[in-house]
Amino acid sequence: MIIVMKPNVIEQDIKNVINLVEDHGLKTHLSTGDQITIIGVVGDKSKLSKCNIELMGGVEKIVPVTESYKLANKKFNMNSSIIKVRDVEIGGTKFVIMAGPCAIENEKQIIETAHAIKKSGASILRGGAYKPRTSPYSFQGLEEEGLKYMAKAREETGLPIVCEVTSLKSVETAYKYVDMFQIGARNMQNFYLLKEIGKTNTPVLLKRGLSATIDEWLNAAEYIMSEGNKNVVLCERGIRTFETATRNTLDISAIPIIKHKSHLPIIVDPCHATGKRAYVNPLSKASVAVGADGIMVEVHPNPAVALSDGPQSLPPDEFELLCNELRPFSNLVGKTL
Ligand code: PEP
Ligand code: MN
Repeated sequence: MIIVMKPNVIEQDIKNVINLVEDHGLKTHLSTGDQITIIGVVGDKSKLSKCNIELMGGVEKIVPVTESYKLANKKFNMNSSIIKVRDVEIGGTKFVIMAGPCAIENEKQIIETAHAIKKSGASILRGGAYKPRTSPYSFQGLEEEGLKYMAKAREETGLPIVCEVTSLKSVETAYKYVDMFQIGARNMQNFYLLKEIGKTNTPVLLKRGLSATIDEWLNAAEYIMSEGNKNVVLCERGIRTFETATRNTLDISAIPIIKHKSHLPIIVDPCHATGKRAYVNPLSKASVAVGADGIMVEVHPNPAVALSDGPQSLPPDEFELLCNELRPFSNLVGKTL
């Protein structure tokens, strides 16, 4: 971090800042130019978190040099992380496909879907039991009953399961069933929830908030990791823009940017990004091309009667086609599917 002093700052103000920083165990480098004096600070900046340096006499501004997230930062951990969800590795040589209905509706629906997606090449089953719907009158999910059906689907197919949690209570319940927690876009900055799942060892799929910057997203990952749970996978699911042709706008550039800034794996959810089935296939291919570690796709045995997100869900035959078409793309980038 660099402390920029005001032009014509008096000597005593500079001394006060240097003393405060050094009293907290950090080192300083003073650089005095013709116009501007700057103080470089070296050491653990968190020790200064309670000091309002920007309010001290003679201080113009503070310029951070490194990002506030450390554990999620590639600068401090150069090796790409591989996150294991049971026996499925995310971030390794496999292009991982997570698939399943937006919401678990009944036992038959989830079991039928689980068998179909496994046959086509998916390796993780998704399904929502706690649904954060825009309208309170829309289907809100089967909660624990749904989780039991998911666990049954895992028993039958061997596929690990990922389910969204929306509250501390749902974490307590879902903890007993799921192999991976999903934090949805709406809860990306629910810091209490992030801290709570950070205290578990269960892998977490952290979706990007609707209007979150990449740095805010990585700081959300940091919340989980700083509590001890390092098993975080990021999911780009589209952000809100002025465009109305799609439900959200898939920020495809986020994938190489995350790969540059973080060692965490990242997958893409082209369904919530677009809201339209027709765009899921081309954007899945784009996701492979830009280096994503996988995708999450909504699949429903009959999307026309789905209780949630039918228009963006693929029927099993279209999902099979998608997997078949993705295989050569994955091979091209050195990943198996
Ligand atoms: C979902 O995965 O069903 C979901 C609600 O996603 P998001 O949080 O990205 O909207
Ligand atoms: Mn959905």
